[in-house]
Amino acid sequence: MNIQQLNILVVEDDEFERGMITHSLRSMGIVLLHAVADGKQALDELRQAAAPPYHIVICDLNMPEMDGLEFLRRLSQEQIDVAVIIISALGNKLLISAERMAKMYGINLLGRVEKPLLPERLRKLLNQFSHFSSPNNNTADKHYALTEILEALEAHQFSAFFQPKLDLMTGRLIGAEALARWLHPDDGIIGPYAFIPALEQNNCIETLTLFMLAQSIELYSLLHEIGIDISVSINIAPVLLDNVSLPNKIWQQVMHAAIDPRCFILEITESAAVSNNAHAMESLARLCMYGFPLSIDDFGTGYSNIQQLTRIAFSELKIDQSFIGDFLDNESQNIAITSSLELARKLKLTTVAEGVETEQQWEALKALGCDAAQGFLIARPMDQKEFFRYAQTIDKH
Ligand code: C2E
Ligand code: CA
Ligand code: CA
Repeated sequence: MNIQQLNILVVEDDEFERGMITHSLRSMGIVLLHAVADGKQALDELRQAAAPPYHIVICDLNMPEMDGLEFLRRLSQEQIDVAVIIISALGNKLLISAERMAKMYGINLLGRVEKPLLPERLRKLLNQFSHFSSPNNNTADKHYALTEILEALEAHQFSAFFQPKLDLMTGRLIGAEALARWLHPDDGIIGPYAFIPALEQNNCIETLTLFMLAQSIELYSLLHEIGIDISVSINIAPVLLDNVSLPNKIWQQVMHAAIDPRCFILEITESAAVSNNAHAMESLARLCMYGFPLSIDDFGTGYSNIQQLTRIAFSELKIDQSFIGDFLDNESQNIAITSSLELARKLKLTTVAEGVETEQQWEALKALGCDAAQGFLIARPMDQKEFFRYAQTIDKH
């Protein structure tokens, strides 16, 4: 899908702003466009919307009648399936809290934008959405039942894709992150947002994770055989840490392949990494004891403090891509990145920037002393075969 095909609802009380946003969208070639003045009208509009349904709601936070926060809660309660971009003139802090709240309500949040709205930033979020809802399917609108997902797991329809991680100083390939994909027989390649939450909520994520580990071990071995030694990172869902027997299963699998656990980095989201859950602590401590490097994923979204971060022996910190997006022209994002890097240096953690999409971001992050980068500038996630070829070509440089 390209962005001209998107159907967008704008929710903004200020008439001038509303005009500005719709004007920007029109100039991007978007024609399916409707604007309302508050949350109530927006809900009515979404409930009534027949075909085509809205893909995206662009929503102001501060509005009379029903504000953006209440609107997001209602969206979640009524299970209205639409992606959301939140905007506000009240500063990035509010936006970050609202983002967190929206995610907790299970909203498909595309991103947040500070006013005055930069059309470029908006276009990027829309592009991102249209990219992930292609090719030739409308998986962004599609909802899969848990039974369907579990059947697909059983039928081996899942696959690990890998995204390269490069050393920012030398440009060398140092790692890969395994990202789950569903190779759906009818709908094409489906991203994790369509199945991970369902698997997590129903305690069924372990099978997928151990499968991702198996595929990562396979990739590692293939590359090791031809003399390319990189680490492979695997995402560990927070709920998995509640299961204190998981670390041993991971370790067994790696031992069985006779590989050093140091080659498999386990990524844990920041909020899970600093949780007060005793089981999670036990799991993390055990993984660390086995020698697996632990990485704090999505750093910057969880409000952890130094004390919490020093409780566990992490080795890597991944700065969330929402900070990389527009840090070059956004002061608060810039501060967030600079202080994350400083914190990481003090804690002796390797730093990885996620979502690096431009040369300028690459150069700026390098200048700030960030260690490694991942992002579309380097390469999109690719299947094992393609990654194998990629690793060989980039290794020659
Ligand atoms: P994540 O761990 O933060 O992974 C990075 C996501 O950013 C990936 O999305 C990747 O495709 C995307 N990305 C990489 N570079 C760029 C860029 O330059 N720009 C933009 N806009 N995006 C970029 P993906 O593959 O859709 O995965 C989404 C999330 O799903 C992951 O976020 C991770 O939290 C989760 N996930 C993926 N695979 C697994 C898995 O096997 N287990 C668990 N528990 N979660 C997984
Ligand atoms: Ca990750
Ligand atoms: Ca991340």
